Amino acid sequence: METIAPEKRFNSLIQLLNALPDEQAAINHFTAIRWKHGAFCPHCGFTKVYHFSDHRTHKCGDCRKRYSIKVGTIFEDSKVGLREWMLAVWLTTSHIGGVTSTQLAKDIGVTQKTAWFMLHRLRCATQTKSFNRPLNVEIEADDDSIGVEKNNKDLIA
Ligand SMILES: [Zn+2]
Repeated sequence: METIAPEKRFNSLIQLLNALPDEQAAINHFTAIRWKHGAFCPHCGFTKVYHFSDHRTHKCGDCRKRYSIKVGTIFEDSKVGLREWMLAVWLTTSHIGGVTSTQLAKDIGVTQKTAWFMLHRLRCATQTKSFNRPLNVEIEADDDSIGVEKNNKDLIA
């Protein structure tokens, strides 16, 4: 399995697409970013982690919970693949003035509602300078129901 350095910056969209040709490549890359300083359980923080052979599932050696690399991040509870997320990160950070949800929807092939939700979460990440999921944010990731609690206002103000 080819790994990309977690600090790798992609200079162009084509470079990113070539580096992350499929969902597994995106998962591997995000895993390298998230666990740059070693694997840890998103539920209890324990650092003994078992990795399943599907390269997507992990299990905590302490609390025994199973989880994917998305758990505890802004990507949690979303049907959107990490490849799309990585693309969205690139697009939103590379365009001065940002990207609109209509534009993002078109660029990565999701609905505008989903793109709106993604942009919202990415804004949280920019604010906190981390992909960690803010604890006081509850967002429904479903295409049909996007509910944002009012305390989000504090985060994006
Ligand atoms: Zn745990």
